[in-house]
Formats: sequence, structure tokens, C-alpha cells
Amino acid sequence: AAPLLQVEDLKTHFFLGTARPFGSGRRLLKAVDGVSFSIGAGEVLSLVGESGCGKSTVGRTLTRLETASGGTARLDGREILSLSQAEFRPLRREIQMIFQDPFASLNPRLTIEQTLAEPLRIHGLAQTRTEARALIAETLQLVGLDPKVMERYPHEFSGGQRQRIGIARVMILKPRLVIADEAVSALDVSIQAQVLNLIKDLQRDSGVSMLFISHDLGVVRHISDRVAVMYLGRIVEIGTRADIFDRPSHPYTRLLLSSIPRIVPGRKRVEDLGEPANAASPPSGCAFHPRCKFATDICRTTQPPAHAVDTGHLSACHHIEALQKDLA
Ligand code: SF4
Ligand code: MG
Repeated sequence: AAPLLQVEDLKTHFFLGTARPFGSGRRLLKAVDGVSFSIGAGEVLSLVGESGCGKSTVGRTLTRLETASGGTARLDGREILSLSQAEFRPLRREIQMIFQDPFASLNPRLTIEQTLAEPLRIHGLAQTRTEARALIAETLQLVGLDPKVMERYPHEFSGGQRQRIGIARVMILKPRLVIADEAVSALDVSIQAQVLNLIKDLQRDSGVSMLFISHDLGVVRHISDRVAVMYLGRIVEIGTRADIFDRPSHPYTRLLLSSIPRIVPGRKRVEDLGEPANAASPPSGCAFHPRCKFATDICRTTQPPAHAVDTGHLSACHHIEALQKDLA
């Protein structure tokens, strides 16, 4: 079957600084620079990388919060990036975003009922208040909250509860694609697992497709069907969860994995993550080369194409063979 979402050669570029006469002195930031992936119906693809790698910009471009500079994104075969905002409006219900900071995204002056009734009204999903309240009560239960909380205000809730409300606001619309951007990063570690399990359960039960954006491979480990690793605007490795965690085939993926404490129990970071490069002045050739212990001359001059390590497992590295010997 065709994937629900097919993204091809997506580019989102920004100009930095203020415009000067004759276009001088403006630097181009290639936040997303040729990203391709697909997400099947009911599938969870995680997008992982350090802060500034462009992963949030991918999510924001797909929800039309940013404007794409190039490429295509098809939802059910329909190209969405070239639609005008008016043409895109009917699709807003289908593509929903869960944000990192649930408090910032909840209006402190609205009760939970009002908060959840608003999207229902905007998308015409409830005709009467009774109908809306029934849907709201059902959705609150779904996210593990007592329907009675409807009468309360956001400040009365803990961070974890607020994120449950944020999730309810998305799920009440029965979207087809959910983009979760660092959905548990702002929560206490003790709460993270609970909210992650909730997201996974809701995703599995509803069959919604998900793009799960996170800087933390430890967090994506249990939630993902497939994982894409991003570095400076590009996907450097993509594969199934087992490909990425058991057979990582890009030096950057290895570096990220080495920084998850749980993977090497009893040891601290086995490698220093080093300074992430700056997207505004990316290194030549393979952008990862200043941090890579496998780098050779070709890495400094030539951008590596994506090589198939196996079916559906791609790595953009010149030296996959050397890497495989290193792992053995
Ligand atoms: Fe390292 Fe070269 Fe592979 Fe880039 S292409 S990850 S620098 S070995
Ligand atoms: Mg981000």
C-alpha cells in the first residue's frame, strides 16, 4: 500500500539577519536540506538528532508553520506543501501537532472544557454543547484524566497532566498524522515513561500515523517502528528500530547511541558528544567529518550519497565497510 505520508527532497531554508540593500550580508540557513522519508498508515517514524539539526523544522514545515523552499510532501497522494493556506485549512484536522511545552500551548484563561471545545468548534465536529461535553469527557478518560477536570484551569495541573490535556486536544480531532515535537522532553524523568506509554497506547489503539521528534534516542527506543537520524539538515541514517539500535551504520548514530546511559550500564558517556556543528556554516563534504573518527579526504570534499545497507536501511556515509569491521 502507498504510505500515508511521502516526503521527498524537502528543503526549508531561512535568511539570517535583517535584509540589507542589494541583498548583501544575508546568510542562508539551510535548516532542512533535502530530506526524504515516508510514514505508513499506523506507523511511528522517529526523527532524532541534536538541537539545531532541523528536525523541528521538518515538523513545522509539514504543518505549514514554516514555508518549504523545495520538495514535496504527499498526504494520501495529495501534495500539501504547494496548497495555499485556504486550501490547506480543511487538512488541518488531519495533521495535528503535540508540542514540547504543554503549558505554553494552553490558554490559562480557558477551562479544560473550553480548551477542548475550541478545536471541535473550529472543525465543526460538535453541533451542541452537550455533544461537545460528551466527546470531551470521552477523550479525557482516554488520556487518563477524570472528566470532572473539565471545569478546571491549566494552572491547577502538573506538567504531566497538562501534557495529557495537550494530547487530548490533538486526539479529540481524530487526526490521521500526529507530529509530536519533544513531547516528553519538558517532563520529569519519572513522568516521561508514563506519558510515552500513553502516547504509544493511543497511537496503537487509534491507528494514527506519527512523526515522533526527539533529541533522545533513549526516548524513541520503545515508541518507534522506524527511526531517521538527522544531522545538519539531512537524514544521515534511516531504518527500522532494530536497524538503528542493533545495526547502526552511520558514525553519528553510533555517537548518539553511545550517549544513552542505559545502553552501556554502569558506565558514563563512553564518548564525548563534541561540539555540534553550526547549520549556518556547515562543514564541506560530509558535514559530520570534523567529529568523525573514520573521516578521510573524500569525506572532507564530497557529500556522501545514501547507501543501502540493507532493504529499507540507508546510511549516508562513504565508509560503511570500515564501520562494519569496527562493529564486528
Ligand atoms: Fe565519517 Fe566520512 Fe562517513 Fe562522514 S562520510 S560519517 S566523515 S566516515
Ligand atoms: Mg526542536
